[in-house]
Amino acid sequence: MPHVRITRESGIPLVGSLYFGIIDRGTNLLQVRPNCSCNISCPFCSVDAGPGSRTRITTYEVECGYLVEWVKQVAEFKGDGVECHIDSPGEPLLYPDLVPLVKDLKGIPEVRVVSMQSNGTLLSSKMIDSLESAGLDRLNLSLHALDPVLARTLAGVSWYDVEKVKEAARRVAQSAIDLLIAPVYLPGSNDGEIPGLIAFAREIGAGKRWPALGIQKCEHYRYGRNIHGMKFQTWWQFYNRSIRAWEKDSGTRLLLTPRDFGMEKRAMLPAVFRKGEKVRVDIRAPGWILGEMLGVGRNRIVSVLDCPKKQGAVRVQIVSSKHNIYVARPA
Ligand code: SF4
Repeated sequence: MPHVRITRESGIPLVGSLYFGIIDRGTNLLQVRPNCSCNISCPFCSVDAGPGSRTRITTYEVECGYLVEWVKQVAEFKGDGVECHIDSPGEPLLYPDLVPLVKDLKGIPEVRVVSMQSNGTLLSSKMIDSLESAGLDRLNLSLHALDPVLARTLAGVSWYDVEKVKEAARRVAQSAIDLLIAPVYLPGSNDGEIPGLIAFAREIGAGKRWPALGIQKCEHYRYGRNIHGMKFQTWWQFYNRSIRAWEKDSGTRLLLTPRDFGMEKRAMLPAVFRKGEKVRVDIRAPGWILGEMLGVGRNRIVSVLDCPKKQGAVRVQIVSSKHNIYVARPA
């Protein structure tokens, strides 16, 4: 599988792609993506990541100093009170410079909070200590079941050990890093696990500054994996049937709003392409799926689907322009 390292010298900008760099969705929260690869293969993965992937053909890694430079520029545009959330489409702990990244992000004057997501499998005690010293404020832990067999099935790898992940969760909760347990609710699979996960989060002291639990709804995505036969809920069913019932039974607040995380609307980086526009981009790197290449234009990345060239200039039509994420097809 090609591994693409994005350095300052590569000239590849760090806004425009979902795979790496920075995503600005018009709030004070910036998604910061230093890498794009995963070490497990959840059967419900929305991006079909990990060793069991059937569609992902490239891994990406951004040079730490280059990423921090870009975050500085975007944070300056956003103003005070930015949260940098490290949430690669994969496992951020696979990024070798994660600790320096956290430290450098914390050093940006406008950045108030640095948080990250993890599946917990690589969270050693040493790593937790290092992240704590670097100033990590919150860790969102994806933990979907406490039952060892089900947890392993939901991780999609035979070596997954839920006891190790639980131990890591305890250590994080005892450190200065706040812990949020973030199970994905998979109707028909882990229904019986959610009450236990709520009790576990409370017992170990998760949620000191922010909520202890952030239960996520499972969504269907075009390139994602799905558990065979699973019935997807509507948002109404998710909130009114599932979340409210667990909230009532456990006495724990589970219905969250962006305000619980200090999120507020902020001006978004101005869009540089509009949908339908025809432009030339310079192809610089392979895409994440077959047939896709990453082009560069107007200091943004453009994902070109069914790209006819592996390098050089290509004329494309922008088919999607949202939150500064650009997707195009040959024009
Ligand atoms: S859901 Fe997350 S942890 Fe699981 S395979 Fe996908 S990226 Fe990896």
